[in-house]
Amino acid sequence: MNLVRFMNNRVPPHKRYQPTDYEHAANCATHALWIIPSLLGSSLLHFLSEGQWERVSAWLYGAGLSSLFIISTLFHTVSWKKSHLRSVEQCFHMCDRMVIYFFIAASYAPWLNLRELGPWACHMRWLVWVMASFGTTYVFFFHERYKLMELICYTVMGVFPALVILSMPEQSGLYELLVGGACYCLGMVFFKSDGIVPFAHAIWHLFVAMGAAVHYYAIWKYLYTAPANQVQTSR
Ligand SMILES: [Zn+2]
Repeated sequence: MNLVRFMNNRVPPHKRYQPTDYEHAANCATHALWIIPSLLGSSLLHFLSEGQWERVSAWLYGAGLSSLFIISTLFHTVSWKKSHLRSVEQCFHMCDRMVIYFFIAASYAPWLNLRELGPWACHMRWLVWVMASFGTTYVFFFHERYKLMELICYTVMGVFPALVILSMPEQSGLYELLVGGACYCLGMVFFKSDGIVPFAHAIWHLFVAMGAAVHYYAIWKYLYTAPANQVQTSR
C-alpha cells in the first residue's frame, strides 16, 4: 500500500506538520467520538454524588474531561477546514494546549479532594490548579516556541501529583491510575511521530481516550460507587 497517500513528509523542527485530509478527518473523529460519552459520564458522577465535595469534584472532573474532547475536536476541525484563518487557527491551537493542563488537574481532583491525605500532601489539592494556571500562562506567552520545555511541563504536571497519590493511606484504584498514566506515556511516542507513522496524531488521540477511560472507570468505581463510608472505614 502506498502510505504517502495517507501521510505527508516530516517537517523541520520550527515548522508545523501538515496532515493529509485523511489524517485531518481521523484527528477530528478520534476525539469527537468521545464528546457525548464524556458528557454522559460526567453527569453520571454528578448524580452519584452524595456530599458537597463529591459534587464539586464531579463537576471539576467532568468539565476538564468534556472540554478536552470538545476543544480538541474544534481545533482539529478549524485546522482542517479553516487553516487559511491563521490567527483563528492559532488561537484554537493554544486553547487545545491549555486545556491539557486543566484536564490533568481535573483528572487528579477527585482523588485529591475525596481521599484522606497527609498534612503536607493535602496542599496538592490547590497546587494542581496553580500548576495548571502556570502551564496555561506559559502557553499564552511561549506557545510552540520551546517544544522540549512544553513536553517537560506536561510531564511534571502529569507525574508530580501522582507522588502524592502514591502516599495515600487508601490505595485502591492505584493500579488503574498507573495503567491510565501508562496509556498517556505510550501515546506520547505517537504524538512525536508525525510524518513517520501515518495517522500518528489520531493514534495519540486514541491513547488519550484510552487513558481517560481507564481513569474515569477508576473514579467511578472507587470514589463514586463504593458505599459512602467504605472508603473511610477501610483506612
Ligand atoms: Zn490533537
